Amino acid sequence: MENPTTKVSHYHVILLFGPPGSGKGTWGKLLDLVPGFYHFSTGEMFRMLDVDSEIGQHIMENMRRGELVPDEITFDLWQQHLINATLIGRFHPQKDILILDGFPRTPKQAEMLKSIADVKLILKLDCANREILVERLHRRAILEGRLDDANQQVIRRRFEVYDAEVEKTLTHFSDNLIEALDVAVAPVRILSAIGEVMARRLA
Ligand code: ADP
Repeated sequence: MENPTTKVSHYHVILLFGPPGSGKGTWGKLLDLVPGFYHFSTGEMFRMLDVDSEIGQHIMENMRRGELVPDEITFDLWQQHLINATLIGRFHPQKDILILDGFPRTPKQAEMLKSIADVKLILKLDCANREILVERLHRRAILEGRLDDANQQVIRRRFEVYDAEVEKTLTHFSDNLIEALDVAVAPVRILSAIGEVMARRLA
């Protein structure tokens, strides 16, 4: 019999792309409440790791500098998390749509994902004025105590990393899948735009 603790499924996914502060986590968590959706954030997965472990320390070091965690480590942990979520009955790969927040972030991760997933939609959250996002990150740093949100230099580096990788990563997917949403508007309008796109694309 196949070992159920290591079995990798074929996933049906929606990708959330966006620079820091664009709301991937906020909207991802909200979508998680919709029956049939499961939201998974790689950033949150990393923040939950034991910082005293060797791997936890290595990952924290990258995050503190605003750099990406290496692709292989990210993909292995990502897969392991989904297998565990499936085992405990939190996620049902055959029925549920996986909302991926922060994965993939590099062309290599895009290829890794494509080997085991069918991408149904890509929501690209962004806005022309990045200062709006910096302001949101300042507020989040105070509310959630996130170290990578508190330091100006680290925030700037995270934007640079995002801008350097996003288009290269998106070229691995069909343009038809991408819906760009402006996040400089009132939250209720973003919510309405997400609802409209989901209903049009998935219903
Ligand atoms: P944000 O998008 O606001 O930077 P996240 O919580 O999504 O916040 O990610 C925080 C950090 O976690 C990133 O700066 C990066 O160091 C790491 N990270 C998250 N997702 C990935 C990924 N797919 N690949 C590599 N590193 C990642």
